[in-house]
Amino acid sequence: MWNADTPLPSPEEIQQKLAEFMKREFGDRVQLAGMPQAEAAETGEQVTPGKRKYAFDFNFKPKDIKAHLDRFVIQQDDAKKVLSIAVCDHYNHVKACECGDDLPDYVKQNVLLIGPTGVGKTYLIKTIAELIGVPFVKADATKFSETGYVGGDVEDLVRELFQRADGDIQLAQYGIIYLDEIDKISTPANIIGRDVSGRGVQTNLLKLMEETEVPLRSPTDIQAQLQAAFEFQRRGKVKRETINTRHILFIVSGAFDGMLDIIRRRVRESQIGFGGARAAEIAEEELFAHSSTQDFIKFGFEPEFIGRLPVRVVLSKLTVEDLYRILTESAGSVIKQYAGSFQAFGIDVIFDRDGLRAIAEQAAKENTGARGLLTVCERVLREFKYELPSSHVRHFTVTRSLVENPAAALELLLREAPTAFHEFVRDYERRFAERYGLKIHFPPDATEELIRRARDGKQSITAVVDALLKDYQFGLGLIRKNTGQTEFEIPLAALDAPDKFLSEWVVSSYKKA
Ligand code: ADP
Repeated sequence: MWNADTPLPSPEEIQQKLAEFMKREFGDRVQLAGMPQAEAAETGEQVTPGKRKYAFDFNFKPKDIKAHLDRFVIQQDDAKKVLSIAVCDHYNHVKACECGDDLPDYVKQNVLLIGPTGVGKTYLIKTIAELIGVPFVKADATKFSETGYVGGDVEDLVRELFQRADGDIQLAQYGIIYLDEIDKISTPANIIGRDVSGRGVQTNLLKLMEETEVPLRSPTDIQAQLQAAFEFQRRGKVKRETINTRHILFIVSGAFDGMLDIIRRRVRESQIGFGGARAAEIAEEELFAHSSTQDFIKFGFEPEFIGRLPVRVVLSKLTVEDLYRILTESAGSVIKQYAGSFQAFGIDVIFDRDGLRAIAEQAAKENTGARGLLTVCERVLREFKYELPSSHVRHFTVTRSLVENPAAALELLLREAPTAFHEFVRDYERRFAERYGLKIHFPPDATEELIRRARDGKQSITAVVDALLKDYQFGLGLIRKNTGQTEFEIPLAALDAPDKFLSEWVVSSYKKA
């Protein structure tokens, strides 16, 4: 029994007591959330790491994953296949380990992607991680060498996984870490005087890729260390929590431009597998496809490091046709984003085929893969985004000539659209009748005046008429009450003094009544 002299129990002890109490009072009908240990202790069921319930259910087949990727990522079939297989192998092995069927000699299916920027590497991995429900972290490998760091930093990637997993350690342990620009941390042996930080990063990454325990609290995170100090003061001990990296899948990538010469030289010497083709004539992608572990070592990777990346695949550059397909077919196309942002202002935008092709052609010249699409769209449509929301224009089509000369197209759109203007005045009358049951009509001269004001003020017809007739539904409603009149013509003169006109009409309606 607790009394004032007894030291306070720890939170875990309190939880344990509570769990026991609940069990005694209510049996199995009531359970305390978040207490698997106490529950297990009571039921005699052991909760050992090897026998835990699955943190997530992995039941995908490579073809399922590839089919999902096809919806988002255009081209890159090899990469999609290879990643789908690697991911299935990896998570099936994780599942087997959870069931206690560990294969001691299993080689983790870490992946090395070779390919230029903007061809879908991140997009592939992010889409896979979302599909299977594991956390995903991306970083540039250069971040670690640039800071000349020693130890520590790469472990932050693991801690970030923990954050992404909303503090679920088990899920964090099944996450995916993606490191881009891995080619920048190579240290070619023949370059004298180059700093060794690249090798240092490789060694540290290697530790993570093999198996290590990463403390949840970073030794350089002051806040985390303070927390630990407080905890120590309060409880006399610090709970040491770590994340094990054994089941974290590592995917690394780089453009590896500098490796082409190495492969070419080797191929020239052997000429194996190229049917006698001259090494200089072999396309880059094909050369990369023939890269060997030796090439990577020559390029400056530690043999152990490259040995931990058994799955390798080359991603291809995106052609104009691919870029066009990304615009028209990918579920994540930027076109949707643009249509959405115009839609928010009530503006419909249609991209015609030739317009999309023109965007794809310009994007290809940027040499930044699919990223170029966003650059081009932004360049072409920026002024439209700025001008159109405050104009009368409520729909436009992105054609080739608009893409090639956006300024002229915008000017034309703002200047010429008289039919659209007239339609909008009639549309306003219709909406007014629907909303208030009062028919208003602007005669031709008043209509022209409204259009002039909208165009000069770069406002929509709706905005112009709304401001003019702000009290009309009320005033005209009074007149209807007094005289039964429901149709009104708003003359040109009323546009200069709308309130005066309205009050005169109202007064005379009282007289008539
Ligand atoms: P990187 O290869 O440099 O990692 P990303 O995957 O980040 O390039 O690509 C940038 C953006 O371009 C993606 O978010 C995606 O919208 C688009 N993208 C790139 N490649 C493709 C592709 N093959 N299919 C569809 N969209 C792509």
